[in-house]
Amino acid sequence: MDVVRELGIKTIQLHTPHKESRTESTARAFLQKLKDYDITITTVFMGFEGETYETIEKTAQTIGFVPKETRAARLAEAFEIADFAKLLGVKALGSHIGFVPHDKQSQDYVEIVETIRLLCDHLAEQGQELHLETGQESVDDLLDFITHVRRDNLFVNFDPANLILYGIGKPIEALKVIGARVRGVHCKDAVATTGTPGVDWGREVPFGSGQVDAEAFLRALKEINYQGALTIEREIPEEPERQKEEIGQAVKLISDLLAKI
Ligand code: MG
Repeated sequence: MDVVRELGIKTIQLHTPHKESRTESTARAFLQKLKDYDITITTVFMGFEGETYETIEKTAQTIGFVPKETRAARLAEAFEIADFAKLLGVKALGSHIGFVPHDKQSQDYVEIVETIRLLCDHLAEQGQELHLETGQESVDDLLDFITHVRRDNLFVNFDPANLILYGIGKPIEALKVIGARVRGVHCKDAVATTGTPGVDWGREVPFGSGQVDAEAFLRALKEINYQGALTIEREIPEEPERQKEEIGQAVKLISDLLAKI
């Protein structure tokens, strides 16, 4: 939070705190700090025990609501996370659903659709919406999935770098396809793998230095009339000094580009 303030950033997304921290008193204390620092949380991102992004294969096995063994327990926890977000006055919940099965007739697919419906319905009751993170699906598959769920409070958090990291599409073309559904954005960058796309990870790099094309991305957001926050994502918590420096550079780059376009 001190780093966020120091960098002059006004909106953040919050990763789900651990279960024991999701209390009313934590929420109250945190809200006070946000107020003192003049920072707004736009989205609470769900995360679950046992998820790992170590390899694409392990990601497919462990992330979100796709693994069958943990689906019911994670849905119950998702309700709790949404309730905690409500205490913080946050209207958007973000989530990776995971690798949705490609066979849309399969029992598994139908059950995942039903799981997300239940989650959307719980969120709707408290005036909240769900933002699915792009990455594991191609944009066409994600749109199909959203259509099948049939809920008005289901949207997309668009992460251009994930499409490159997972090797499943070109970010700017994808953004234009899914534009009307985008309610959140990660400013993140990456370079594609030199190995096998979809099997080997691409590499995350500072925003503006990879294959996303930051200027074209911001122009495309303008074109789709995106009105939400631009949230810089730089996933190197093990190197806090470098993380702070590179997020600071991204803030400067985005400000310069926005002034230009
Ligand atoms: Mg992201």
